[in-house]
Amino acid sequence: MSDVRLRLEGVSAGYGRTTVLRDVDLEVHTGSVVALLGSNGAGKTTLLSVASGLLRPSAGRVLIGETEVTRAAPNARARAGVCLIPEGRGIFRGMTVRENLLLQLPPWEKDKSFDVALEAFPALENRLGELAGRLSGGQQQMLALSRAYLAKPSLVMLDEVSMGLAPVVVEQIFESLHILASNGTALLVVEQYVERALQMSDHVYLLNRGQVVFSGRPDELDENEVMRGYLGHELDSPDVAATT
Ligand code: ATP
Repeated sequence: MSDVRLRLEGVSAGYGRTTVLRDVDLEVHTGSVVALLGSNGAGKTTLLSVASGLLRPSAGRVLIGETEVTRAAPNARARAGVCLIPEGRGIFRGMTVRENLLLQLPPWEKDKSFDVALEAFPALENRLGELAGRLSGGQQQMLALSRAYLAKPSLVMLDEVSMGLAPVVVEQIFESLHILASNGTALLVVEQYVERALQMSDHVYLLNRGQVVFSGRPDELDENEVMRGYLGHELDSPDVAATT
């Protein structure tokens, strides 16, 4: 059996008095791709926040590899190999592309070269002096995804990275995710393009109102039931519309 990169055990979490996640168990194995699905407000972003250390759970445990990190800060988890590409990209729009890339290099990394990101996303190469906020949406997302190459993480968590992008750019983004995964990086993917997410994943979790209602292989998932029951809003997404 492959070893576990990320494990959530009995995690409950929320904001103030509002409980969002309830008793969630989730595992991401080394080198695997896991899709996390659920309707708007199901708790997907909240789960990624708990896993990355931005939000402390009210109950349960979080482990990276064999190490418990439930109370560890985000930077300690980053050092342990965890990288979050947040919804909304998390880049500094008022700084240049070069400055953003330099900031994405982990402080403990001796080699201050960001060439590996430019190899993954050549479109950034002649925009290095440009303000990040002036890039196209797709290029901004490529800049955000550069972190997953520069930090050399063992687990990358991606929150709706294809959101609002043109289909041709979505293709490029998914291609870069395939490359990351084929290099052995574990991925935990929250994605509006359900079909694509399922195609590239080894395992899928379905969240409904903060609870795991399905955990299994993508081919075990009754997609019609899922679409009707839990992902109503996704019916509008291009991939799903094409299949219904
Ligand atoms: P979406 O697809 O809309 O991003 P999601 O599955 O990622 O949905 P979350 O963003 O985790 O869902 O939100 C779960 C619930 O927690 C929602 O009801 C949301 O309104 C609430 N919530 C999220 N962030 C906060 C916050 N910072 N403070 C209070 N409530 C929040």
